[in-house]
Amino acid sequence: MSQPTTQPEKPQAKEQVIQLYQGAKRIHPKMAKGRFANLRIFMIIATQLFFYGMPWLMWHGRQAVWFDIPGRHFYIFSLVLEPADLLYLTGLLVISAFGLFWWTTIAGRLWCGYSCPQTVYTEIMLWIDHLVEGDRNKRLKLDKEPWNARKIRIKAIKYLLIFIVCAWTGISFVGWFVPIREFVPAVFNGTASGVALGTAIFYGFVTWLFGHIMRQQVCFYMCPYARFQSAMFDHDTLIISYDAERGEPRGARKKNAVPKEGEKPLGDCINCTACVQVCPTGIDIRDGLQYQCIGCAACIDACDEIMDKMGYQRGLIRYTTEAVLKKEYTDADIKKRLLRPKVVGYGGVLLVAIIGLLVGIATRQTMQIDVIKDRGVMVRENKGMLENAYNLSISNASENTQIVTATVSGFDDIRLTGLPENGISVKGGDIVKVPVQVATQPEYADKGSHPILFTFKYREEGQPEDKAREIKEKAIFIGE
Ligand code: SF4
Ligand code: SF4
Repeated sequence: MSQPTTQPEKPQAKEQVIQLYQGAKRIHPKMAKGRFANLRIFMIIATQLFFYGMPWLMWHGRQAVWFDIPGRHFYIFSLVLEPADLLYLTGLLVISAFGLFWWTTIAGRLWCGYSCPQTVYTEIMLWIDHLVEGDRNKRLKLDKEPWNARKIRIKAIKYLLIFIVCAWTGISFVGWFVPIREFVPAVFNGTASGVALGTAIFYGFVTWLFGHIMRQQVCFYMCPYARFQSAMFDHDTLIISYDAERGEPRGARKKNAVPKEGEKPLGDCINCTACVQVCPTGIDIRDGLQYQCIGCAACIDACDEIMDKMGYQRGLIRYTTEAVLKKEYTDADIKKRLLRPKVVGYGGVLLVAIIGLLVGIATRQTMQIDVIKDRGVMVRENKGMLENAYNLSISNASENTQIVTATVSGFDDIRLTGLPENGISVKGGDIVKVPVQVATQPEYADKGSHPILFTFKYREEGQPEDKAREIKEKAIFIGE
């Protein structure tokens, strides 16, 4: 008889909670000191002097750089651009894009590390953290402390400074679009326009959100450049890398320590984690190239300081290339790899785009004149002559007043009326509309349309007539 068998109990599946969202931890990097930290400070000061200072600069009685959107004029020192000049903006975008491709292929994330606004404002917020709360250890301790009068006071001072920076950033941003010397007093006396004020508040809020709250999260999850830049990298692109061959096996030791007999000698990394403590994105560069690395070089400064203290050669973490790490060539040969096809290709397009833009701006007509046929009056009789009406749209994209005169041709007897004999004066940056009439004898203009030609001459006010430049515009004359 067979024994009854018992089925083995099935193991009970354990309930597990999988977090699909992981909250970001606040990173408190230590302040790095060294040549790259100095370069970063210099870049932050330079970019912010430009951003905050440029709207205050005056040029010939007006703001030197002023993107006057309601007035449809962009003033850049002596250059006055209009909507018709949108082509130059396209050129500028092409130059920016290829400049970034070219630079990224050569130098990797140098833009991210030193001049990207996200890096710059995160760094400014870190300076405020450091100034008010102290360095990394003090900040970590303060965060763990329960709320008390001291913590509230420190946080209040910090948020006040952050508010001032963000508010001034918002105001300065708007100052590129409205005259800042009028906008700032208007903000304080409550007469600023709602749109301008709303834009300043929004930009200030974004500065606070991205620079103080999100910080490196913007680079990890939002920045499109971080995603596509790997397509521009190659084996010869500069990267910040830990030299594992030289550093491993890592291990703590005292300065001048010599390995005991039979002990495997250690690499140059003393496992002090200084490179990790200064990293604003909280990664360990020794784990290899990671997309979170923004190329700020803080870890280079931190490691160089340790190498100096230990009496080792600097450069355990350094700017190098993948090819150097694979021993295809040495660091000294990096410069020789600059003229590779990808770099030359991007550089060539960039050069052509820059030359094209400069030539375009240098030769651009500062005066634009359109002749628009008045559709309400096709043809009429006036004192025995046939007359057509037109509207002239004269746009002066220069800084100075221009005097415009006009003649018309197309028939043996053709007359133009509506413009003063001495010409019309158009102020710099103005667009004027002038109704004019063209008349001819009925025998010259039979039924149908006849081509005529307007010839305009313009010169700067005060200049002699022989300095005048010419614009020709075709038009149609409708016969009886
Ligand atoms: S700073 Fe240099 S020595 Fe210290 S852990 Fe980093 S790589 Fe190693
Ligand atoms: S790994 Fe180094 S270069 Fe990269 S973000 Fe961190 S500190 Fe900056």
